[in-house]
Amino acid sequence: MPFEPPRSLSPSKVSSFRDCALAFRFTAIERLPDPATVWTVKGTLVHTALEQLFWNHPQGTRSPAAAAAELAAAWSDLQDDPDYRSLDLTSDEADSFRADAEQLVANYFLLEDPDEITPVGVELTLEARLGDVRLRGILDRLDRTPDGELIVIDYKTGRAPSPAYEQSKLAGVQLYALLCQEVLGRRPVQVKLLHLKEPTVIAAEPSEQGLKGQRTKTLAVWSAIERACRDEDFRPKTGPLCRFCRFRDFCPAYGGDPSLAAATLGTPERGAA
Ligand code: SF4
Repeated sequence: MPFEPPRSLSPSKVSSFRDCALAFRFTAIERLPDPATVWTVKGTLVHTALEQLFWNHPQGTRSPAAAAAELAAAWSDLQDDPDYRSLDLTSDEADSFRADAEQLVANYFLLEDPDEITPVGVELTLEARLGDVRLRGILDRLDRTPDGELIVIDYKTGRAPSPAYEQSKLAGVQLYALLCQEVLGRRPVQVKLLHLKEPTVIAAEPSEQGLKGQRTKTLAVWSAIERACRDEDFRPKTGPLCRFCRFRDFCPAYGGDPSLAAATLGTPERGAA
């Protein structure tokens, strides 16, 4: 029986399909369980602290101490979080987890001064219809410059990509720019990835032509997804990501059988896709 396509596309789904159609099938179509990892939980913790910094502290009061206090509050809440508890960290591992998160939040202040920033949205959900696909994304932050222009901000807690991969990493954030243009009627003047680990900023200025290209590519990805669902044909694409792929045992490129993945890993309750 053909697969049912997802109800919407997000920048991460677009890049997941481009990276490997088979891995996309497992996560976005079959929605197989996605166990929490130290990296995903730490990323959520740091994002929460930075969100709260902007939500709870007006301009002029967004100090490193305020961010550290928000991180401490988020850390306290995290202790009851099922994803965090599933990591089952030892006391030493938990200390190191927290110290890493504190360093990432401290590094943020090396990239920008939040007191100089006017956000128009934090954790802002935008949704637009492109052709017959619903494109949906959550922006970490949308800023307004003193000239009234928009800047899209995305926090990253993993390693910054090598220069060869910078453009592909910016493709996701360019889709956020496209969403802004579709929903707000304005093309952001800049999109920025704030890599907190190094720390470093990767930025690009979306052009009208570039966003037109993003629109065309997104519609092409959607057509390819619909085709793959109809034909039940999601091909593996081997590459560096295979090393971290949790579906490797079910991947034909490594001698596995994809049809066994759902029965082995279990299917979660189906919610909004
Ligand atoms: S192991 Fe590699 S090719 Fe296979 S599903 Fe995972 S990412 Fe795709």
